[in-house]
Amino acid sequence: MLQGLTALVTGSTSGIGQAIAERFATAGCNVVLNGFGDADAIEEMRKRMAEENGVEVTYSDADMADPQAIADMIREAENRFGAVDILVNNAGIQHVAPVDEFAPEKFDSLIQIDLNHAFHTIHHALPAMRRKGWGRIINIASAHGLVASAGKAGYVAAKHGMIGLTKVTALDTAGTGVTCNAICPGWVKTPLVVAQIEKKAEEQDVSIEEAERRLLAEKQPAGEFVTPEQIAEYAVFLCGDSARTITGSQVQIDGGWTAQ
Ligand code: NAD
Repeated sequence: MLQGLTALVTGSTSGIGQAIAERFATAGCNVVLNGFGDADAIEEMRKRMAEENGVEVTYSDADMADPQAIADMIREAENRFGAVDILVNNAGIQHVAPVDEFAPEKFDSLIQIDLNHAFHTIHHALPAMRRKGWGRIINIASAHGLVASAGKAGYVAAKHGMIGLTKVTALDTAGTGVTCNAICPGWVKTPLVVAQIEKKAEEQDVSIEEAERRLLAEKQPAGEFVTPEQIAEYAVFLCGDSARTITGSQVQIDGGWTAQ
């Protein structure tokens, strides 16, 4: 179905982004990986993904805090593949502190990476999608794009902004064959959340298992983590023909978090 298309996934060297990149590769897409990490491990993943699926996989080390690096990443992908047909804005970071203690430079970098990067990738990738009359833009927002939690000023502001950006992009592209949607995951056990679990275990002097249980009990009524693969599956669905009229949406995959 998606054979021969090109998917670029920002922040795909780990967690949710990696699962999405893997899933698009198994669907027959060429893939552009992006993100930080150990160079040898990334190269190994790139090679494996390409060999296992018979697709081309490239890697960009562009920093999503750097607009020029983002422009260069999209241009390089287009030079190689013609267009970025599927753009997944997934790169993200977290920082937790009460708003009056929140370091201003941390706030700025959260907005830059968790929100602004999605504007810059869309801005540069959209013209080629328009020319082809087909494109899919998927923004990985969060339950925190819809509701807030204490201590997450930067993250919540960025993710709410990402949902606004999704809606505007959907309107600006309506009727062109391009769609733009947001996915809003609840807790997914990735390095980003493992750090929060470890902090909780330490602060509350409990085991990691108990900290996990408490984290879920606080927010996610289903009582289990969402998996990266579940999010990846929905991203692929959004690229199929049955989803061609889904645009400007924000779908929660959050175990009931935002139903409360
Ligand atoms: P993760 O830490 O496992 O992965 C983050 C990825 O982003 C990594 O590949 C990292 O290298 C990359 N990255 C970070 N800063 C970057 C930068 N400046 N430039 C380029 N790449 C950069 O985290 P994850 O949980 O997989 O998070 C992925 C996305 O999903 C994030 O946007 C996050 O906000 C969102 N999300 C996560 C959860 C969760 O519970 N894990 C819930 C809702 C939303």
